[in-house]
Amino acid sequence: MQVLVINCGSSSVKYKVLDTTGGEARLGGTIERVGDERSHDDAIAAILEEAADLPIEVVGHRVVHGGEAFHDAQRIDDAVEAAIEACVPLAPLHNPANLAGIRAARRLLPDVPHVAVFDTALHARMPRRAKTYALDAEVAGKYGLRRYGFHGTSHAYVADLAAEHLGRDLRDLRIVSLHLGNGASACALELGSSVETSMGMTPLEGLVMGTRSGDLDPGVVLLLARELGVEATDELLNRRSGLAGLSGVGNDLRDIQREAEEGNDRARLAITVFAHRCRKYIGAYAAVMGGVDAIVLTGGIGENSAEMRRRILQRLDFLGVRLDEDANVAAKVSDARPVADISEAHARVRTLVVATNEELRIARQAAKVARGDQDVKQPRPIPIAISARHAHLDRKAMDVLFGEGSELTVYRPLSQPGQFASEQRVNLVGPRGRIEGVRVLGPLRRACQVEVSRTDEFRLGVDAPIRRSGQVKGSAPITLEGPKGTLHLDEGLICAWRHIHMTTADAEAYGVQDGDMVEVTVSGGPRDLTFGDVLVRVKDSYALEMHIDTDEANAAELSPGAAGELIYSEPGSKATATLQRKR
Ligand code: ADP
Repeated sequence: MQVLVINCGSSSVKYKVLDTTGGEARLGGTIERVGDERSHDDAIAAILEEAADLPIEVVGHRVVHGGEAFHDAQRIDDAVEAAIEACVPLAPLHNPANLAGIRAARRLLPDVPHVAVFDTALHARMPRRAKTYALDAEVAGKYGLRRYGFHGTSHAYVADLAAEHLGRDLRDLRIVSLHLGNGASACALELGSSVETSMGMTPLEGLVMGTRSGDLDPGVVLLLARELGVEATDELLNRRSGLAGLSGVGNDLRDIQREAEEGNDRARLAITVFAHRCRKYIGAYAAVMGGVDAIVLTGGIGENSAEMRRRILQRLDFLGVRLDEDANVAAKVSDARPVADISEAHARVRTLVVATNEELRIARQAAKVARGDQDVKQPRPIPIAISARHAHLDRKAMDVLFGEGSELTVYRPLSQPGQFASEQRVNLVGPRGRIEGVRVLGPLRRACQVEVSRTDEFRLGVDAPIRRSGQVKGSAPITLEGPKGTLHLDEGLICAWRHIHMTTADAEAYGVQDGDMVEVTVSGGPRDLTFGDVLVRVKDSYALEMHIDTDEANAAELSPGAAGELIYSEPGSKATATLQRKR
């Protein structure tokens, strides 16, 4: 597909027409001085004139801030445009320019699909613990103060290439990606998802950048705002800090390195502060993910400066990082040969230099959205079913409780194919109390299994183990009463292990396997809660659904009809499911 990629900044428009199959650029360039000498409309018109002979099938727009609204690339319509506009307060420099480009391009190319690709999208499903600033929750909510993260397009692109180069599935890898350009950020990618990133609500947080300070004590900002005023502080932190502010010789690392060699102490300090901050983040992200399998360096500095790479990667042997000095110095990456491994052959952690290509990633994402085949890995809503206490019976129990040769009759079908709630009910009798009218589920099984909640156990006076369905051996005893007789079971009473049913295709899409344990976070309601140890059960005959009991549903204040979505963002080997309450 031929995709025109547009990256509209406040003063320039970068553009490229790419063929998504081979990745080659048909044309490209930068139009400068947009805003004063010419409008965004003029700039886009000039680009379209240049591209007049090319059959542009899709336009991909880089959009810096997608706020809370966008987790994925989106086909642009008026509603999406409005939602991008709503994010302007979060990115006052970037989103208005992005929007101006979108509006001009939609006007001039009305018959072609336009797709917005967000810098923030990769990080949208970061765990809450990583997204959340420790601020007054009400104030944070009112102003949308949380960590969003940026450079997502680049981190995703280089992580994909790294996995491909290593012959591994991205979903098996823990990657620390360092995008070190004029803007710089680190990202922890676990199981293919961003679980941490160094830029926050704005691109000012985190690493030392060309002209931005990165991490600071907020007290510094308060002092500066008091002394210099807010505007001047903004200017100082965004445009006169970072490598430029530290070194006093500008923001280009090449110049700073030259000065440092000549003995300029400020230049030397700039280099060591930059490298130190990067190393600190690598260590932190290894801790966040419980280890690291690959470190990826990209961006102008990451791709080109062997000296900076060496400084960043020194003394990381304790993590399993071992740099091959010769390979590091020799590493040259390009669009044609985008990956260079600079680790020693036996190093446990692979360290890779990868040439980023944000435009190509944007083009491919845009083509995918335009084709309507959004990445199958995209989480889809998972319906949540709340299981009330119930009984499964075997043939013998049926005979005793309901009469010889009796059959279950369907009351209503259940969502799992072939399963049904029957019209038959039994009473449960325990040493302490009884529960009447417990629904029997059909069809009959090979062994009796009665599933109750912790509250029910209390009423009955029994301690039932938490078990997955079918594992009744050694479970608790219970007495069943039916209309035709009473049956004592020595075992069969369990508290069901909370679980998600899914098909093989679902499991593949979510990157999980039968037997995996995931975490499920319920958020957006009055009783946010994370369920640990949710069992994934995979069978092609299953329908996608999460099952919890009434106690669990009450604890999270969920009601029937709730739905959620599954993401991968927990440290350790666990995947995470995040459930969003259906409003
Ligand atoms: P942007 O974030 O603007 O896209 P780049 O990713 O192109 O920036 O990175 C630009 C920066 O990369 C330059 O400012 C410079 O500091 C650095 N850089 C590029 N080439 C080299 C090199 N050979 N050695 C050291 N630094 C380099």
